[in-house]
Amino acid sequence: MALEDLFKIVKTRFNDDNVQQETSGTVDIPADLMFKCPRCSAVFLREEFVKSQKVCKNCGYHSRISARERLDITIDSGSFVEYDSDMTSANPIDFPGYEEKQAELREKTGLNDAIITGEAEIRGEKCVIGIMDSRYMMASMGSVVGEKIARAFERATEKNLPVILFTASGGARMQEGIVSLMQMAKTCGAAARHSEKGLLYITVMTDPTTGGVTASFASEGDIIIAEPKVLIGFAGRRVIEGTIKQRLPEDFQSAEFQLEHGFADMIVERKTMRRTIAHLLKLHKKVKCCPPSEKASFAAAEGLNDYTPWERLEIIRNKQRPTVRDYIPMIFDEFFEMHGDRLYGDDGAVMGGVARLGNVPVTVIAQVKGRNIEENKASNFSMPHPEGYRKALRLARQAEKFGRPVICFIDTPGAFCGVEAEKRGQGEAVATNIYKFMTLKTPVISIVLGEGGSGGALALGVCDELAMMEYAQYSVISPRGFASILWKDASREREACNIMKITAEDLVELGVAERIIEEPAGGAHNDPRQAAENIAEYLTEAVSRISAFDTETLLDRRYNKFRKIGVFNENEG
Ligand SMILES: [Zn+2]
Repeated sequence: MALEDLFKIVKTRFNDDNVQQETSGTVDIPADLMFKCPRCSAVFLREEFVKSQKVCKNCGYHSRISARERLDITIDSGSFVEYDSDMTSANPIDFPGYEEKQAELREKTGLNDAIITGEAEIRGEKCVIGIMDSRYMMASMGSVVGEKIARAFERATEKNLPVILFTASGGARMQEGIVSLMQMAKTCGAAARHSEKGLLYITVMTDPTTGGVTASFASEGDIIIAEPKVLIGFAGRRVIEGTIKQRLPEDFQSAEFQLEHGFADMIVERKTMRRTIAHLLKLHKKVKCCPPSEKASFAAAEGLNDYTPWERLEIIRNKQRPTVRDYIPMIFDEFFEMHGDRLYGDDGAVMGGVARLGNVPVTVIAQVKGRNIEENKASNFSMPHPEGYRKALRLARQAEKFGRPVICFIDTPGAFCGVEAEKRGQGEAVATNIYKFMTLKTPVISIVLGEGGSGGALALGVCDELAMMEYAQYSVISPRGFASILWKDASREREACNIMKITAEDLVELGVAERIIEEPAGGAHNDPRQAAENIAEYLTEAVSRISAFDTETLLDRRYNKFRKIGVFNENEG
């Protein structure tokens, strides 16, 4: 009988029982021939299901897969050199039956414990890889898992290799008592030493990543990827429900929940996982920055237009004015967006990620304007909350670790003013960015795209060089706020705008900005592509020029740039 025919018969005969169990019926079907999705109950031929990398074609459910299966779909075939394959667990607290259980699982899974580690290549990129396997005691972390992870990090540190860990775990291994708890510290210690050397560590959280693994090395990846809809959390659902005496929502502790709350960078489907990891590995390779060009290919444009400050404000508030979302694909070759502050949430007002500018990997951090009500709601009218600033700082520090230049796009009326923002420390968040950016050991270039409002703008504006789009403005407060505070009359906004000295030329004059980027006549909205080209040309030149400074000179220049801003009189002698 052809497989297809068999499939038809089986499909019509199937009841709601788990098809992975023995099936009964008039046709004698091997139990492992079919797969029924536990989430949507769709039935597939197992062969078909395996071909789709064990992802349900109907609902996208990512089924658990073994470590060997994961290895096969992730790495270049034949490239794996396994570490510590013969290490097996002892019985540190003499837990009854532990040895027998281990022996049984070794036999059943072909594994010696819940993780395999080793060296491999992914699309030609060398790395150290570790993959946990939930079939082995729910991939709980005992001595062997802890030791193999620690050794994997140590070898990667020694060989200057990135580490990729696919996590799946129920947590610490109870059968090993306090010894298992200490594996959390051991793995974190090894991960920290690897990080101190400026090496990349990517975590891929798969189903389920919980307990002591979430609370240790799994959460410390430079980049945290999660498979869609997988369970990620610290305490189990039943424990929490028992403690708070309430039912939890369905999506609680899902990958999506973690992304929204700032703990995961991105959700990646299994079918694009290998490609994504390979791209990220390439983006984190150390590149030698090309020597600075003989002369700056870009000359500061000054006095380009005759528009009054108020007319320029109208231009930058034009709904058609390009936003950073328009510019990114036109300026950069690749862009991997990262999410979250790893503390509270993911702020839509600030976007960031790793991109490639020509052949130079850079970190992009940008305030996001919307052009319609939907976009504006998603980006909170470009007014960041504290978590937006903390996300920016997290990404900037990552750039520092990997020696990538940081490019900030400023476009905000100001930091969001509200009760929740105050409770989460809006002032502290802005202050910490200003403070930390001042000593960030990597080049920082900021560009004001439209409005640069107040401390909310400066939080992305402590930089080695500030460029202004030709019509952009940067001010201590909005003209409206200025009029209202100084003249108690907000309607004198236009008059305020015209005297505040907030145009690009004013800022160059005051030593706040160094460059003006020319816009197409009448504003960037008239030719976004041309505007993007001008930005790209400036950035390419500036990144190469500023990257040539050694760190000490770079930080001295940055300090002095702000140190010398100020206008005052002083008596001599
Ligand atoms: Zn399904």
